[in-house]
Amino acid sequence: MQGDGEILATSSVITAPSREPGGANALPTRRLAGMQNQGGVVAAGRTNNVSGGIVMHKLLLATLLVLLAGCGQNTGVGGTAGDAMPATLQANEQMAAELELDDPQDFEDARRGLIARPEGKILSADGSTVLIDFDAYKFVDGKAPPTVNPSLWRHAVLNAQIGLFKVTDGIWQLRGFDIANMTLIEGKTGLIVVDPLTARESASAALAFARKHLGDKPVSGIVFTHSHADHFGGALGIASAQEVAQRKIPVIAPAGFIEEATSENILVGTAMARRSMYQFGKNLERSPQGNVDTGLGKNIVYGAIGVLLPTQLITTPEQELVIDGVRFVFHNVPGAEAPAELTFSIPDRKAYGGAENLAQTMHNLLPVRGAKVRDSLQWSTYLQEAIDNLGDAEVYFGQHNWPVWGNARIVDFITKHRDVYKYMHDQTVRLINAGHTPREIAELVKLPPSLASFFGARGYYGDLRHNVKAIYQFYLGAYDGNPANLNPLPPQESAQRWLDLIGGADKAVAAAQTAYDQGDYRWAAELLNQAVFGAPEHKGAKELLARTYEQLGYMAEAATWRNSYLTAAMELREGPPKKGVDRSFVIDMLQQTPIERFLEAMAAALDGPAADGKNLKVNLVLTDLEESYVLWIENAVLHFKKAAPATDANATLTLTRPIFIKMMTGTAGVQDTLLSDDLEIDGSQIDLVRFFTLFDKAPGTFAIVTTE
Ligand SMILES: [Zn+2]
Repeated sequence: MQGDGEILATSSVITAPSREPGGANALPTRRLAGMQNQGGVVAAGRTNNVSGGIVMHKLLLATLLVLLAGCGQNTGVGGTAGDAMPATLQANEQMAAELELDDPQDFEDARRGLIARPEGKILSADGSTVLIDFDAYKFVDGKAPPTVNPSLWRHAVLNAQIGLFKVTDGIWQLRGFDIANMTLIEGKTGLIVVDPLTARESASAALAFARKHLGDKPVSGIVFTHSHADHFGGALGIASAQEVAQRKIPVIAPAGFIEEATSENILVGTAMARRSMYQFGKNLERSPQGNVDTGLGKNIVYGAIGVLLPTQLITTPEQELVIDGVRFVFHNVPGAEAPAELTFSIPDRKAYGGAENLAQTMHNLLPVRGAKVRDSLQWSTYLQEAIDNLGDAEVYFGQHNWPVWGNARIVDFITKHRDVYKYMHDQTVRLINAGHTPREIAELVKLPPSLASFFGARGYYGDLRHNVKAIYQFYLGAYDGNPANLNPLPPQESAQRWLDLIGGADKAVAAAQTAYDQGDYRWAAELLNQAVFGAPEHKGAKELLARTYEQLGYMAEAATWRNSYLTAAMELREGPPKKGVDRSFVIDMLQQTPIERFLEAMAAALDGPAADGKNLKVNLVLTDLEESYVLWIENAVLHFKKAAPATDANATLTLTRPIFIKMMTGTAGVQDTLLSDDLEIDGSQIDLVRFFTLFDKAPGTFAIVTTE
């Protein structure tokens, strides 16, 4: 996603244990939801007793649907977005005074080569949902409104330059059809597509738009730069697997691509998808008081995600390939921005494609949505190699934001990025060894003026303070070494005690109001967060916290921070979302995910306390793959091994991989599971029900800034 693109945990799949408070209804509902998740298997009956099984199955499903319909009554305190407060205005004015916001170079670059700009909307396949509205950000133009940090506004205006652009002879980019760019490279017989966006819908719309202006050329090659879904998810929108095979279309990807692409977010995908709503401001209104940008581009398109299998992997630091008559020099650069990533040069066109190790923003070492932490030093090393390998390139283009032209400017661009990652790394390490802890180091590290004045690496997507903490975490973990933090009270309990000490929530809110009036928003947020967690019924605390987060959002230079603060304000007013990210989006991609990854995620959804003493064993036979697995619970842990069906199993479940995936994602329709000829059960139905009811299903709508 999850730019991280980074996306995004749209590949949210299975059932992590939910954090929702265990009220009287919570547990049974969750448990039953787990059954629905595994719905197709529950009591489908032996093959010689199909009709009886189906009746029981129908009853179960009906019960589940009724129970599930009652979920999700989250409410907020109401209210709407407000204006910028005087302290916010002052902070924004000060930033405007410190930066050369009118520097025209980026605007020239972002507009250079425009061929055509799209208008209107892209709808979902059934026409029911607007996936992308090209006019949604039309308001992002001219002078910064008081409710947006002026540096972020400048960046948002630059990212609002959308359309089909000529980068150089024989290279074009489509920007603004999704959060990432699609790059097109003219080959001898057709177009080589670099990164087919997040969704089938956005990718096919982008390619169709290009063909309207460049001629109806076939796809003659596909390059996936890295394993984040915004760079491959739309693959099936530009070519089917069948077409790739028939026409022998080369599909190039970095080593480890398919494993990372189909698995990276599966285990904690539910939580990542939920948290990504904050980072990307998914549910915010597009307005001067809402979402204006994401840092890497405008919207992520939440459509159908798929992937194509690579035909050729890039496995070495330098690897030359001719694709449809065009000579590419690829570089394998894993383990910096993404676990699997490549960059490339096209020497004959004097072009360098930087994938996502470079963008017109500081990137993140740890996305706000959460991920495994990234290696700043490695990242910086790759950028030095990029300079060494640049040769006489006259244009750099990335898979987000806009290009840079001119060899000297490109060298300067990469050099500054190299040094931003190295400076924050080295200074953080220096301060770690001097005894400072993450929150202190985040205050201490400031980029030198030569780097801070460079717009191309300011923190619009990544943020220096967050990155500094990530570097600490990379080397030392989240614990800061102070035993006061070794075993602190959980947030709600701590908050209640603080409130008792202060003399109640009213007093905390009064103190926060004073801080708010003085523009001391960080302190106000700290006080109010305690009040909201310690006294969840206190409306005034939520109202003021919403207003406080809003001011923090209006001041934030990072789009990811702005979106997080404003989403927090929105959820205090309206409650958490009623719906999580739709899991049916990822079905096409999951067809390529090894079964082991699902089983690992399934194990991590086992309700440990409930599984204690239930030593059940189930055979899983996948007929289309000609594979079988034995699953068993031992010591309240789910284990699995690829093996012939065990003779002492409680039950055997025989089915196909597509049905299995639909069950695992909870996307199997009633028809699919009831009437499928591809599903058989042998052994004890009761035991199978007992087994599958031990797994949680998390809906991905959990509260973040409130306790409920
Ligand atoms: Zn990306």
